[in-house]
Amino acid sequence: MHFARLRLSGFKSFVDPTELLIEPGLTGVVGPNGCGKSNLLEALRWVMGENRAKSLRGTGMEDVIFAGTDRRGARGLAEVTLVLDNITRDAPAGWNDEDLIEVTRRIERDSGSAYRINGRDVRQKDVQLLFADAATGAHSPALVSQGRIGTLINAKPQDRRAVLEEAAGITGLHSRRREAENR
Ligand code: ATP
Ligand code: MG
Repeated sequence: MHFARLRLSGFKSFVDPTELLIEPGLTGVVGPNGCGKSNLLEALRWVMGENRAKSLRGTGMEDVIFAGTDRRGARGLAEVTLVLDNITRDAPAGWNDEDLIEVTRRIERDSGSAYRINGRDVRQKDVQLLFADAATGAHSPALVSQGRIGTLINAKPQDRRAVLEEAAGITGLHSRRREAENR
């Protein structure tokens, strides 16, 4: 299974519907300052269930919605869809019947986020578990943003262990155990 496309609309500077093809081998995004490279990476994190506004360079979750410019008014909603190619049929259990898996997150001002997987309404937790089981997610060490290497070098051993667990794909197990213990 791999990322195939990223569709954005109303997300940060991507006010008009935009589609990014993620072809095998894509490892970096280059372009002039301010063109939206970091916003793309943040969209990828956001659709996978990122909840910390700070790691999206905002103060609140609604800061991801296009805020308007001198020439264009602000938007009322943002939507990002990540299309996963599952031709190899190795998606986590429960999601393995289709060639394509489409994960969508949408936020409207004053009404919070809603998630869908292949058109079905799901919980944020379901989206986070899907990606955790596939050994990726909003905190995946595969997404290297500015300053991340320095942070890792200076991290406490316990925090570094979390990065290794994320890479090994066992984060979902911890989170399921916590959920079971709280029942
Ligand atoms: P650099 O090379 O400097 O790292 P970059 O390509 O990573 O630049 P981004 O940080 O992704 O650029 O994009 C910054 C642009 O996105 C700025 O012009 C900023 O105004 C715009 N932007 C961020 N959030 C919003 C928002 N909510 N609404 C409208 N525009 C936004
Ligand atoms: Mg940047």
